[in-house]
Amino acid sequence: MNTKVPRCGSLIKFFTKIDGQNAAEFIFTSKEVEKFLNELKKNSKDSVPYPDDAELILKWINQRDDNLSEATYLPPEFGEYRNFDGIVDELVRGGLGRITCLKCSKQQPLGELRNQDEHRLSGWSYNRLVCTEGHPLIYVETMHILRRRRH
Ligand SMILES: [Zn+2]
Repeated sequence: MNTKVPRCGSLIKFFTKIDGQNAAEFIFTSKEVEKFLNELKKNSKDSVPYPDDAELILKWINQRDDNLSEATYLPPEFGEYRNFDGIVDELVRGGLGRITCLKCSKQQPLGELRNQDEHRLSGWSYNRLVCTEGHPLIYVETMHILRRRRH
């Protein structure tokens, strides 16, 4: 692994981008991201492949140091991973994460996030979450690799 990549600690920080601007900061425990990626891996089939980049992220998380309590920014090398917004979207909808909107600098109570998903006739779908003030936090094309989990 590239030595420039910072060590993963107990928390992972990630910024979603919308129109090239950081929209929101998300903090997850490494443990919950690890669990999610492992489940994704287990559930992937030939028709829904498990992406290589997810494997890299999982490896990085597996080598973490839980004594590091400061949140580690997901390395940009992995941030290029275009499906990570999709993973964040799934985690948040699964009730995980600490979210701060960068527009109003407010931490967002998970239960109050609003969902403005779009389902277009063309077959493309977009998942969109907005903060309590209506600022977009996450905007992703619905991933076919990720199936919605209902609890
Ligand atoms: Zn906001």
